[in-house]
Amino acid sequence: MTDRLVDFDEVLTRYEPLIGLETHVELGTASKMFCGCATTFGAEPNTQTCEVCLGMPGSLPVANAAAIEATIRIGLALGCRIATWCRFARKNYFYPDIPKGFQTSQYDEPLCTAGHLDVEVDGETYRIEIERVHLEEDTGKNLHVGGATGRIHGADHSLIDYNRAGIPLVEIVTRPIPLTGAKAPEVAKAYVTELREILLALGVSEVRMEQGNLRSDVNTSLAPIGSLEWGTRTETKNVNSLRSVERAVRYEIRRQAAVLDAGARIVQETRHFHEDTGSTSPGRSKEEATDYRYFPEPDLVPIAPDPEWVEKLAAGLPELPAARRVRLREEWGLSDTEMAWLVNAGALGLVADTVAAGASPSDARKWWLGELARRANDAGQELTELPVTPGQVAELTRLVAEGTVNDQLARQALDGVLAGEGDPAEVVQARGLAVMGESDELVSAVDAAIAGAPDVVAKVQGGKVQALGALVGAVMKQTRGKADAATVKRMLEERLLG
Ligand SMILES: [Zn+2]
Repeated sequence: MTDRLVDFDEVLTRYEPLIGLETHVELGTASKMFCGCATTFGAEPNTQTCEVCLGMPGSLPVANAAAIEATIRIGLALGCRIATWCRFARKNYFYPDIPKGFQTSQYDEPLCTAGHLDVEVDGETYRIEIERVHLEEDTGKNLHVGGATGRIHGADHSLIDYNRAGIPLVEIVTRPIPLTGAKAPEVAKAYVTELREILLALGVSEVRMEQGNLRSDVNTSLAPIGSLEWGTRTETKNVNSLRSVERAVRYEIRRQAAVLDAGARIVQETRHFHEDTGSTSPGRSKEEATDYRYFPEPDLVPIAPDPEWVEKLAAGLPELPAARRVRLREEWGLSDTEMAWLVNAGALGLVADTVAAGASPSDARKWWLGELARRANDAGQELTELPVTPGQVAELTRLVAEGTVNDQLARQALDGVLAGEGDPAEVVQARGLAVMGESDELVSAVDAAIAGAPDVVAKVQGGKVQALGALVGAVMKQTRGKADAATVKRMLEERLLG
């Protein structure tokens, strides 16, 4: 089924979008939320389970203190109020990947409330209000076998891996974000991007979106411009890449406009996002609110964080990404636009690490935004995926600064580094890339160039000094680029003019 879509720009002449995001983050704790089971990604199915996370009768959960601490730190980084007393609650529903028949979550007593996060899109700042940050446990994973799409429809049978069941999961919920207009898709993406950066800075999760460490549910609705009432929203589930967050919002805006234009109504439902087509399709209807029969978890004591401890956690927060960007921009003397470039290229952290390893900010930027960006682009990779470390790039800039290699030889050294031949200095050694000194080899190359072009020599000696360039070029060619051009020029001048 193909949805009718309205041109994005046209939608915005008649409708105002309203978005909201619910983001789930798997914490990187060594053990699960309510038991001691390991949380290693990719382990053999059902090898990291016990009676607690399998929901055996009579087993008793114990809350993971490291997970509570991580959640409070996330709340503090988002400017939230931290509860002085709150409880876990049982969210009751029956589904195969929930072995207990309920998920231990938080309901009306979340750990963190009323925060905010500012994001910037095209030079404009949008304040995203955070409604709540709460702690819960992840579900197991269903694997549907035999169908073409991996979905349950058409499958022969289903398998369940409970390794993920009980991994600490933090849910971060925004309030509805109004007045983003045409920027709604980009604001959604910018929010998840910034949130991910904060989680990385806090070190609470690996936030690998491709492994599902961070997944966002994207709520979208439209209201006719001038209307005071928001339309019915849809919830696109588990969008797991930054680019997809933007695409999902854009698609829903265009699809909902077509539905409303036709005089029909938006069905309140969850929707699936399809990476290949960038479209969404209907999931579960939410027309009738599910009654989860929440009630306080009787097997766990309430969480009552000591305010002094919370203050200590607040004081111990690392420098957060927004503050870091301001500091680095000033230290490196960049304009807002230059900084935005670095950030958008995903190069900020790499450049900062390269500078920390000894490179100058301008050299570090030159390599990451120039040669390395080009190679990443050619390989269809992100900069961070290139097999070269900031330390190696810093070494490369040092070799250039010292005159061991010139820019061209440095690029050849980089080839070797990317091919796994070792650090730049090793590659320069192994491939013989060092710039030639005034060796016999260079002297004879200069001799050969002079002997080979008597007409050019005559011009130079007749006063046309710029003709020297042709001789320099001949020597560089003869030495396969390994000579230092300035040295060659000086040697030629001494021989012909000196
Ligand atoms: Zn367990």
